[in-house]
Amino acid sequence: MIIKEEIQANRLDRGYERYKEEFNNKALEVLNSGWYVLGEEVKGFEREFARYLGVENCVGLASGLDALWIAFRILGIGKGDEVIVQGNTYIASVMGITINGATPVFVEPDEYYCIDASKIEEKITSRTKAILVVHLYGQASDMDTVMEIAGRYGLKVVEDCAQSHGAKFRGRMTGTFGDIGCFSFYPSKNLGAFGDGGAIVTNDSAIAEEVRVFRNYGSEKRYYNRVVGANSRLDELQAGLLRVRLSHMQELEEERKNLCRKYLEKLHNPRIILPHIRDGATHVWHQFVVRSKERDRLAAYLKERGIGSIIHYPIPPHLSEAYSDLGMKQGCLPITEEYANTVLSIPLYIGMNEEEQGYVTDTMNEYA
Ligand SMILES: *Cc1c(COP(=O)(O)O)cnc(C)c1O
Repeated sequence: MIIKEEIQANRLDRGYERYKEEFNNKALEVLNSGWYVLGEEVKGFEREFARYLGVENCVGLASGLDALWIAFRILGIGKGDEVIVQGNTYIASVMGITINGATPVFVEPDEYYCIDASKIEEKITSRTKAILVVHLYGQASDMDTVMEIAGRYGLKVVEDCAQSHGAKFRGRMTGTFGDIGCFSFYPSKNLGAFGDGGAIVTNDSAIAEEVRVFRNYGSEKRYYNRVVGANSRLDELQAGLLRVRLSHMQELEEERKNLCRKYLEKLHNPRIILPHIRDGATHVWHQFVVRSKERDRLAAYLKERGIGSIIHYPIPPHLSEAYSDLGMKQGCLPITEEYANTVLSIPLYIGMNEEEQGYVTDTMNEYA
């Protein structure tokens, strides 16, 4: 077997090269402007991203984690309150809950790796205040059921859209169903900056105004501080670069979709379980996640042949050392834990060429 040049799990340089001149020009424009935090680029990005989603308000923040914890803070959810969330998420989703002193209550995922909405109701108690929906890997969750349950029990709904920019459920963008949608623009996300960034989106203008004040030390007017807030501002450089990427979102989405369509068509190995798509949902393919019983052997096999892969995520939050105080033992969430032991994200990035993908596909199909 000839080992080819290494094919990495992700290649951010290719995404930069695609619009290099536009990115470079925008960066110089911002540097030359003499204004670097909370200015016209941030306002422009907030307006354009809100329009893209079909939502009233967008407030730029410093990260996706900030969007999450600030969302719960503004909704008044904290100590003594419970928030329902799926077990198999990135730990930041859970930190968004616990930073405020609230308690995460985990629900098992469905076959699409999102919350199994049929298992939410049995976890609701008198302390439950909200459901945090994570549209994991880029696929929209079952929002019909989530919103129906939330409505019936009077629960808030927060959406973690860090992986789902542009994903829809029944024609409507993720992030616009609940009270608040939280986005991350970390460089590897589908809408990625060149550093950290995040945003809260909401149709509730009062919430948007609270977030706007909160992100800037709780200051409504310069040096007049109404609440104890945070410093969580999207900067001008990131906002400007995000506007460039957002203007190409349609073609970027198409490219990922085409790559994954090819994976779905060409991968056929009974040892490897492929992802599938829920009725009514769209998938924007933040990751192409397969499952295999002998996942670690598969990852080692690929590595030997020059192919990178990543596990999203090897340790579920409830078993993480950071959450040992929750006292949850191995076996508490069998489906979540099985996913943690079997999932593998294979190479997928903007600019992945036919030769690279063909090599990954052939190598995966030859795995025995
Ligand atoms: C990336 C991510 C976050 C955190 O976003 P940051 O911008 O890195 O803070 C939260 N939730 C999910 C599901 C993510 O993938």
